[in-house]
Amino acid sequence: MDIKEYVKLYPDSLIARSYAFAEKAHSGQKRASGEAYFEHPKKVAAFLLEWNMDEETIAAGLLHDVVEDTECSMEDIKKEFGDHVAFLVDGITKLGRVKYRGEEAQRENIKKLILASSEDIRVLIIKLADRYHNMQTLKYLKPEKQYRIALETYEIYAPIAYRLGMQHLSGELEDLAFPYINPDGYKWLISNVKVKYEDREKYLHRIKPIVVAALRDAGIEPVKIDFRAKRYSSLYKKLVRYDMNIERIYDLIAFRIIVNSLADCYAALGVIHSLWPPVPGRFKDYIAMPKPNGYKSLHTVVFGKGNQHPIEFQIRTQEMHESAENGIAAHWAYEEKKGTQDYSERIASIAKEKEIQWVKQLRNWQNESSDDPDFIDSMKIDFFKDRIFAVTPKGEVIDLPAGATPVDFAYRIHSTVGDQTIGAKINGDVVPLDAELHSGDVCAVVTQKGKKPSSAWLEFVKTAHAKQCIRRALNEKGSNLVIAKKKHTELKILAIDKIGLLKEITDIVSRSHVNILDIESNPKNNGGSLIIKVSCEMHEIDKIFKIIAKIKDLKEVREIDYKIISE
Ligand code: MN
Repeated sequence: MDIKEYVKLYPDSLIARSYAFAEKAHSGQKRASGEAYFEHPKKVAAFLLEWNMDEETIAAGLLHDVVEDTECSMEDIKKEFGDHVAFLVDGITKLGRVKYRGEEAQRENIKKLILASSEDIRVLIIKLADRYHNMQTLKYLKPEKQYRIALETYEIYAPIAYRLGMQHLSGELEDLAFPYINPDGYKWLISNVKVKYEDREKYLHRIKPIVVAALRDAGIEPVKIDFRAKRYSSLYKKLVRYDMNIERIYDLIAFRIIVNSLADCYAALGVIHSLWPPVPGRFKDYIAMPKPNGYKSLHTVVFGKGNQHPIEFQIRTQEMHESAENGIAAHWAYEEKKGTQDYSERIASIAKEKEIQWVKQLRNWQNESSDDPDFIDSMKIDFFKDRIFAVTPKGEVIDLPAGATPVDFAYRIHSTVGDQTIGAKINGDVVPLDAELHSGDVCAVVTQKGKKPSSAWLEFVKTAHAKQCIRRALNEKGSNLVIAKKKHTELKILAIDKIGLLKEITDIVSRSHVNILDIESNPKNNGGSLIIKVSCEMHEIDKIFKIIAKIKDLKEVREIDYKIISE
């Protein structure tokens, strides 16, 4: 339903009263686009309505800029619409002052953001709707503003939307921000990928009748079969990891099959696997083991016709699909329909169900880390990099950033487990403590009572949480560990050995006005390749991407990866 229709239909509702109030308050104001200012809060409220949010939230969406941008005070809102709506508007107004510009501001800002969001998630959801519309109209702003807002969206709001399980919104925000923060990468994609997308889509169109017929033969009537084209922003991230080689990306376009029941999900999977053999290691059962943000689906990649083009399939029910698109908002809506609990109880019950662990995680971050200067930086990495899901021997899924080690895993279970770790097994094999965990790995930690962590662990752990725990334990021991607070990026390059290559690489870095802190080059096993590690004084993601793109252009370079290091 349109927000205007809603207002007409329920003229005495809280939403209708807020609509009239905000329209009047903003009258005469214009957006940078030239349209009436009220179009903005109206659009924000429309998103919230679409996400099935409650009346108070939609009302607050309509009123969200009133206190900041008009003569109205918070008292006026309180008098007119009550404490709850005023509380939400106040939260948004505060968040509006949060500006992520980089170094100095970043720490305080993100902290505020988390505080506000933990207090009432609805504030954060309104903020996301606000940001969504602002990103859609970003082209009307000045270039400096565009860059700052796009970067903030890409590095802070999109990952938060993802955390909330709002995958659709998260992807939209990233895609809207991407051309502003990485114009070169965006141009590269447009010129290199468009044709591929079209080819792949044509191919899937030819395959589709085969899939539909096979499902019907098995007695499965799909609710919907469509294609999901991989988003530019996430494709680019993946390409950076895959050598910019588009042929290695299987899920450029994936089939999405929506079925009626859980049983049909697995039955459909069986049908697909009997049509074409699955690519080993690419089957993921996110139904049995959902992602920590609540995502449920079956994913598989099969070798397609004549084994030429691997195809990805995503299979899920309608409810899983809604939840995947709208995350917390979808859950919220389901709870609302049951209708008995009040808001605070509802949130508690969601947290208790462990269905959406982020509520708890946000709280923990806030409590443990609010005065640790390293915390925000490390958390940003946790948010930004892809995540992996390792499993305890008892089957509990542990959410970790990519590259995490058994020590990170141990600390995620419990700080005492982390402190007392002396060894680890991955899938039954004894591994070193700095081994890299991968999704689906079963990790068993061996502990010994009274053991203390080693400062050497700080070199390889990936999570902010593990670092904090290790430092805490070391400080208790009375160690005088000095921690440098410098942040830098390490580029890891795999290349064919050639005289002059190192100089070419360092030239690229210095031409971008980036200081090189350290460079090291080692031959890889046998054969003529090298692993080159370059530490540089930079951490801005767009700069990193630009330098990576340039280094990739060197014909000797095979692979390149990066890591932001904050001490
Ligand atoms: Mn706004």
